[in-house]
Amino acid sequence: MPITFNLRHLEEDSLQVVGELPAAELELETMDELIKASHPLIYDLEVQILENAILARGLLKLTLDCECVRCLKPFSFQIQLPEWACHLPLEGDDKVAVVNDCVDLTPHIREDIVLAFPQHPLCEPDCSGLVKTQKKAEKGSGTATKPESPSSAWSALDKLKL
Ligand SMILES: [Zn+2]
Repeated sequence: MPITFNLRHLEEDSLQVVGELPAAELELETMDELIKASHPLIYDLEVQILENAILARGLLKLTLDCECVRCLKPFSFQIQLPEWACHLPLEGDDKVAVVNDCVDLTPHIREDIVLAFPQHPLCEPDCSGLVKTQKKAEKGSGTATKPESPSSAWSALDKLKL
């Protein structure tokens, strides 16, 4: 079931469009081999007519099963778009497709969900990869173990001279 609504239901009042969409309907599986979308998309939208256009806005939420690009650890990544909004003209060249008075929001939602995918899925922002898993424990125990980049070493030296 795609995420559709009937325009006739919008004639007098705004419409709540709430539910879950099976991930398969979003057709995301070919996106990235490190990212699997197996959980349903949760949506809670308000749809209204606004000057010859449809305005849909609300919450989109999707949990992805990812694999870390550095350490290959599986982890969950949650896409949460609490203020998603979509403006669909009912007239003109860009007007939205209406079939039997119904409008399908699914392709527009898919577009923005895809944009929210992690570019390089990391289990943690500072994941150090496969080899040095024990390094995280050392974090904060001093700067001696952490190699400084040449530029910052030099700038530190400059400060000393002053
Ligand atoms: Zn990792």
